[in-house]
Amino acid sequence: MSKPHILILGAPGAGKGTQSKHIVETFGVEHVTTGDALRANKDMDISDMDTEYDTPREYMDRGELVPDAVVNAIVEEALSSADGYVLDGYPRNLEQAEELSEMTDLDVILSLDVDTEELVDRLTGRRVCTECGTNFHVKYSQPEEEGVCDECGGELHQRDDDTEETVRERLRVFEENTQPVIDFYEGRDEFASIDGEQAPDDVWADVKAAIESRT
Ligand code: AMP
Repeated sequence: MSKPHILILGAPGAGKGTQSKHIVETFGVEHVTTGDALRANKDMDISDMDTEYDTPREYMDRGELVPDAVVNAIVEEALSSADGYVLDGYPRNLEQAEELSEMTDLDVILSLDVDTEELVDRLTGRRVCTECGTNFHVKYSQPEEEGVCDECGGELHQRDDDTEETVRERLRVFEENTQPVIDFYEGRDEFASIDGEQAPDDVWADVKAAIESRT
């Protein structure tokens, strides 16, 4: 049987990255994430695409969406070579959702639901390993040694866009652009809404059950 096509939706900080890691380990799919792809190419010259700014960085540091043409190309390329995937961070608006429906079909659509103030708290306290990408939190998930990753010994840092001002803008952009995407998918048989405020292991139990019952 071919591997599942999974879409994971939710606001910044809802736990998409953490749950995607579990999905990759358990279902053997590829993690396709526009956020990571863009962070690795922040200073790529996109001026020939007739964009307002010349690099992804300028959009990302403001908490704004990178233009659709740039992101659509990244996703199309990644999905064309993936045998089963969990797609994280895309689509972020209805135009991208339409584009995605031209590229592929979906077996499972997950939506992680978390209250806004909880998201602000999670994101502003988040610290990420520069080597392996594991997330920690200054209050809720402290590493054994401050500033050092428990998994690989790498250095922990705060993402440029996890400052409170940018976090609030990212959440506003999510409400305005991405909530309509969730409304668009809701009601389909593939769609499952997950309570993202539970402990991570309980969220994972719900995510796994939702995937198993749809594949
Ligand atoms: P993330 O790691 O998913 O929170 O993404 C970080 C930033 O990358 C976002 O705030 C956007 O600036 C940009 N980005 C990621 N995915 C997309 C997308 N699908 N469309 C437009 N911009 C994106």
